[in-house]
Amino acid sequence: MKKGKTFIVSGPSGVGKSTVLQALLSKRDDLYFSVSATTRPAREGETDGVHYHFLDVETFQQWIAEDQFLEYAEYVGNFYGTPKRFVDEAMERGKDVILDIEIQGAIQIAAKRPETIRIFIAPPSWAELERRLSSRGTDSQEKIQKRLVRAKVEFQTAHTYDYFVINDSVENAVRELEAIMTAEHCRPQERMEIISGK
Ligand code: 5GP
Repeated sequence: MKKGKTFIVSGPSGVGKSTVLQALLSKRDDLYFSVSATTRPAREGETDGVHYHFLDVETFQQWIAEDQFLEYAEYVGNFYGTPKRFVDEAMERGKDVILDIEIQGAIQIAAKRPETIRIFIAPPSWAELERRLSSRGTDSQEKIQKRLVRAKVEFQTAHTYDYFVINDSVENAVRELEAIMTAEHCRPQERMEIISGK
């Protein structure tokens, strides 16, 4: 069976990545969403093992020591990491894998696995991003400010990604993500068995 591909989706906090990815995943059962581990406390409505594996700092450090992460990074005072095993198992089963991770993690994976496709999702404007972060009502003013500062830093790296998607509406963003994934599977190297006549 042909191995699946890995797609990294990065973008500023509050850009609506989770909503877009949920909409994409509900349409497609051939995709695997990588559930990250984090030391951040669960938000209301988040379930352990579904949205994140919520770990304490000691357990997170133990996972690092056991080399269980494909990448990990610190983000606004908490650790986040991608457990390697589930990603590799899903790819072996032929599933495309989606990683919702920030830029430091994306850089680590690009170095280890350069074939990974990296997609940046941007908000339609800064004002809209600020509005979305505030209306979420889950973070303190201080955390919102930190996330905005971080968002501006992340935005400056957007040109290093393979694709740039603007989340002006969930529908449009999902359509663009699907187009990217389809196009990546139409590369000649993906179809070598046909090209070489085997
Ligand atoms: P949030 O706290 O809003 O759920 O996530 C904060 C940031 O952490 C987001 O930009 C998200 O993409 C990123 N993130 C989530 N999981 C991971 C991960 O496993 N690794 C890295 N490097 N970043 C992650």
